[in-house]
Amino acid sequence: METGSLKRVLFLTGTRADFGKIKPLIKNLDSNPDFETQVFVTGMHLMKRYGSTANEVIRSNFKNVFLYMNQDATYHQSMDFTFANTVNGLGRYIREFPADLMVIHGDRIEAMAGALVGVLNNMRVAHIEGGELSGTIDDSLRHAISKLAHLHFVANDEARVRLIQMGEKPESIYVIGSPDIDVMLSKALPDIAEVKSHYEINFDDYFILLVHPVTTEIDSLESNLEELTQAIEASGKNFVVIYPNNDLGAETIFKAYQELEENPHFRILPSVRFEYFLTLLKHSGGIVGNSSAGIREASVYGVPTIDVGTRQNRRLKHTSIVSVGWERKAILHALQSLPKSTPVSLNFGSGDSAEQFLKALQTDALWQLPIQKEFCDL
Ligand code: UDP
Repeated sequence: METGSLKRVLFLTGTRADFGKIKPLIKNLDSNPDFETQVFVTGMHLMKRYGSTANEVIRSNFKNVFLYMNQDATYHQSMDFTFANTVNGLGRYIREFPADLMVIHGDRIEAMAGALVGVLNNMRVAHIEGGELSGTIDDSLRHAISKLAHLHFVANDEARVRLIQMGEKPESIYVIGSPDIDVMLSKALPDIAEVKSHYEINFDDYFILLVHPVTTEIDSLESNLEELTQAIEASGKNFVVIYPNNDLGAETIFKAYQELEENPHFRILPSVRFEYFLTLLKHSGGIVGNSSAGIREASVYGVPTIDVGTRQNRRLKHTSIVSVGWERKAILHALQSLPKSTPVSLNFGSGDSAEQFLKALQTDALWQLPIQKEFCDL
């Protein structure tokens, strides 16, 4: 491809979990005359139950935003079906609105669909935050996406080395840090009074509870949730409870939370806008559950985490994180003995990822990497 010409860059977002991370990247390209951005919005973003977070994308005022519903909320749909729908819709979209590069993030099925559609249509694919380990099926998806992607923008050197171990070309890997750190360290976050008033949170002190299903442990999900909800109720502490993602098993979590609805110690929310979530996290007494926010983000603010179960068991564990199983006693004990704050960690970036991403996209070397991948032996 000829360098120096206008480049069209398509970003795919399927959840609040990836949007917070790719938003700073889109923003930076959007204001640069060398690039034209497109944003394909799908997945949970379009679902009322999960907070219609497509509105957050729309509010960002990016050019060329396209909404595509890849699932039907009125009946239970297996994840492979959602995957197939995404391949179908995204394929049609890119034939109508072709781009020079598609940017996907993480380990969800929408990203997997994006990687596949890109590769099968000879469109360059860039993967954000590959090369990481978390645990469960997310690892398999993340690594599979990396094997399809032509370019990798990773959070740290460990991720880079892992991708090289997986046969990826060193020149195709850029260490830019985790782009959410850019937002986390920015001075533009809302203040806590505004966040509490916006989401009608009336507690002075509170913890955050954020639990996702582990699709490979679906049989024990109901009893695990029972242990957890009993522990947090027994603690007498206040919780801002945030709904899970829409992975298989989410229904079981919704059911378990129904019991908490009448309890004044709980404020249950479908989703919190990224910047608002960060402020909420920063001022919380800690985060409980199995969200990546407990592993990646809490330690940046020195907020303690109780990481429950296996979902994050392969992630790098900072000293701010206490890992426990799904046992009422263990969770309660961890809650009662959490420190007020913990040492700060900046393992995943220093706040300039968007700048580094833009710089990489402005180099000829990036665009000259062949679209036919080669496996590099160690
Ligand atoms: N997040 C958010 N609003 C919320 C909950 C989470 O913006 O209400 C962000 C959070 O900061 C993190 C990302 O979404 O960057 C991932 O969180 P989640 O627990 O949804 O997914 P995971 O990464 O664990 O799959």
